[in-house]
Amino acid sequence: MRFQSTRGQAQELGFDDVLLAGLARDGGLYLPASWPERSIDDWRAMRGLSYAELATAVTQPFLAGSAIESQLSQVMEEAYSQFDHPAVAPMVQLDDNTWLLELFHGPTLAFKDYALQVVGHLFDRVLSAKKERITIVGATSGDTGSAAIAACAGREAVDIIILHPKGRVSEVQRRQMTTVDASNVHNVAIDGTFDDCQALVKAMFNDQTFRDDIHLSAVNSINWARIMAQTVYYASAALSLGGPDRPVAFAVPTGNFGNAFAGYCAARMGLPIASFLVGSNRNDILTRYFETGAMTIEGVEPSLSPAMDIQVSSNFERLLFEAYGRDGPAVKRLMDGLLQSGSYTVEEAARNAIAEQFKGSRLDDEGTKAVIQSTYEATGQLIDPHTAVGVHAAQSSDLDPAIPRVVMATAHPAKFPDAVEAATGLRPDLPAALANLYDLEERCDELPNDLDKVQDYVRAHSRV
Ligand SMILES: *Cc1c(COP(=O)(O)O)cnc(C)c1O
Repeated sequence: MRFQSTRGQAQELGFDDVLLAGLARDGGLYLPASWPERSIDDWRAMRGLSYAELATAVTQPFLAGSAIESQLSQVMEEAYSQFDHPAVAPMVQLDDNTWLLELFHGPTLAFKDYALQVVGHLFDRVLSAKKERITIVGATSGDTGSAAIAACAGREAVDIIILHPKGRVSEVQRRQMTTVDASNVHNVAIDGTFDDCQALVKAMFNDQTFRDDIHLSAVNSINWARIMAQTVYYASAALSLGGPDRPVAFAVPTGNFGNAFAGYCAARMGLPIASFLVGSNRNDILTRYFETGAMTIEGVEPSLSPAMDIQVSSNFERLLFEAYGRDGPAVKRLMDGLLQSGSYTVEEAARNAIAEQFKGSRLDDEGTKAVIQSTYEATGQLIDPHTAVGVHAAQSSDLDPAIPRVVMATAHPAKFPDAVEAATGLRPDLPAALANLYDLEERCDELPNDLDKVQDYVRAHSRV
């Protein structure tokens, strides 16, 4: 399988190079050159597979020609062996036509584990096939850092350095990063904000010499392999609710649009999906786009669902590429406009194509608490604030009630205990595997918000 950049100027690459590159050299994001479509019979034949078997069956075509093509089923078995539920992504029914898809059974209790665990194993095997090493540098406001560290800890060919804003991540999130005892994991608390951390990472990627010297790589959701791995739970949920013979709708609490876009990929692969109900918190750039057709950057305000506090939904670029009929130069013009003026407007045909499948909604913090409370009262389920935004997206939609709605439960309630307690009076317990989180020793370095000092640190800790 070959992969193209959404901006049309980078050369096509195979899976292994796309995995290692993350972002394309022209600034675009990679997509498969064509969609491997499955027939209804193909999907039916996947009913009853284990999660790891399903993951292999769904993702196999993307690895055609990869050096590790034949190792895919081992990758999936290993990646999902550490999850704490035998179904990996079980469902719980909330009411007549609404289900929660629990995506918090991985090592760090958020849905990012479902992709990053796979990516960690893919890195290991691709790098050992190529006899190379890489250095991963990332910035985190919370969930991505811990999931990436859990995926890369102890991997021979990878060093991982995660920057977080000092004093600005929750204690659970910080401890999930700093208590990992592996010599290839390095946490750095930056004296600054999350935006400062992100700017440092960007600057390192823009320094070509530095980038090449240390084989710099990224694990954020621009990496195609993450999107690919996330298509699997769409299939698993749909198949267990009667798919592919009955269309299903998905409600997705959204930040960077990676999760929602993975659902679109599943649909392009032939899985019948009725609709994507996309929920934002007060940082509602996407909802405003759905209302107006214009994507316009505004400031970011902290909310109860911090993993969705984003300025731009970077994966929306992939959907634009498809909606514009794979016109790379047109996408590049939109993205240049965003950079220069903080805004772009989607042309009508593309906007209509997107509106057929995606509906936007928003929920502020007061609404989030109200949904956590009402869900608990109606069903006895405790849900986290991100999931609450998804539940609202499902409940507020005017979709045909005969269509089952699956809400992505993207984090375990115990990851955000304060919000859950404020809404319900109950403080959720951490699952047993993390019960000793507060007893473990923390390892973390501190650095000023200074590019030279951070680059020196990264060089010193990279084994490339
Ligand atoms: C990352 C994250 C999201 C947002 O997912 P995107 O793919 O960025 O849209 C939602 N909820 C939780 C808990 C997350 O960690």
